[in-house]
Amino acid sequence: MINHGRLEERIQSLGMIGATPEGGVARLSLSKEDREAQMLVSAWMQKAGMEVRVDPAGNLIGRIEGTRREAQPVVIGSHIDSVVNGGKYDGVIGVIGGIEVVQHLHEEGIKPLRPIEVIAFCEEEGSRFQSGLFGSRAMVGAINEQDFELVDQQGMTRREALIQFGLDPKKIKEEVVRRQGAIQAYLEMHIEQGPVLELLQAPIGIVNGIAGPAWVEVTVQGKAGHAGTLPMNMRQDALLGAAQIALLVEDICHAYQDAPVVGTVGHMEVLPGGANTVPGRVVFSVDVRDIDKGRRDEVMRQVKTGAQQICEQRGLGFSWNERLNLDPVECSPSIIDVMKEQSLKMKLQCPLLISGAGHDAQLMAVITEMGMIFVRCKDGVSHNPAEYADIADIALGTELLSRVALHLASQ
Ligand SMILES: [Zn+2]
Repeated sequence: MINHGRLEERIQSLGMIGATPEGGVARLSLSKEDREAQMLVSAWMQKAGMEVRVDPAGNLIGRIEGTRREAQPVVIGSHIDSVVNGGKYDGVIGVIGGIEVVQHLHEEGIKPLRPIEVIAFCEEEGSRFQSGLFGSRAMVGAINEQDFELVDQQGMTRREALIQFGLDPKKIKEEVVRRQGAIQAYLEMHIEQGPVLELLQAPIGIVNGIAGPAWVEVTVQGKAGHAGTLPMNMRQDALLGAAQIALLVEDICHAYQDAPVVGTVGHMEVLPGGANTVPGRVVFSVDVRDIDKGRRDEVMRQVKTGAQQICEQRGLGFSWNERLNLDPVECSPSIIDVMKEQSLKMKLQCPLLISGAGHDAQLMAVITEMGMIFVRCKDGVSHNPAEYADIADIALGTELLSRVALHLASQ
């Protein structure tokens, strides 16, 4: 049986690392808090009988061997980094659930044919270097030089942060990248981060696809000046241009009515950033997602054209840097079938649903069969200290995860 008490206790203990006064967590990748979290999770992995290592991309990996040593592993993964003031469940339940699956087998003395690995991927959220899914991209060979040059708010590059964490980024290609077929299957359990399961009164759901996010960093260049002496008609205020572009993102997405396309400006840096200074430069993010890649790219194209026009009209400079562009991904039909079959044995009706959020699973799908389980969360709230999922729901998700992992690891 899945140990509810242990699951709950571990979720709460991990939530204490980087705890914020609002009751949430701030655990940025490769930080002091991340190190502490990795050490705690690593101790749990060892208790579950796993060998543990951190690969050169900062992924924490636990592995338990099967009866056939050379067999490709079944991998269960998610992440333990968080957004700046996030919740206790996002990513965490997938890693703790994965450890529970292995610990349960270990305690019952069940040894499947294949090895099982549990991975906590590095910087899934992208909240430190503003570029997410780093660890899983590294694992499928989808990172480039630019990823290492990105800087955090203190001006430290990701390369420096990796080195300071005791890792050697030069070894990523050799030691992190896994080729097509090197993994038998990849499974991820995650909170839904949306309202669908709650609406359907279903504790868990089976994911059939993940929307593809496109993420761009836009810089609007104006001219800084004195807020008291510079007349209104002589200004090149970068923030006013940026604000107009943010509203344009909303307008364009609204124009698509019933389509699930969503656009967000969630990060904005105003420079030089003084209350008495006209903003000279603004750097901000535009995030657009859809399950239809063509429609999503069309929205991005319209945003870019419109933003260029706004900047021209206001006499502002404009630059557009693509930070992330991932295709929408379908979950493996054969894993979905196993999930349906196993959930029926548990006498559960699991609805099929789409993931609007990005997950490490969508990268892993590049090299292996992938499946995801969603757990209902309160009011669909996530990336917020109020994020909450009921332990009974998490335990059901973990039970399904366990059944599916065991099934896949036995053949
Ligand atoms: Zn997550």
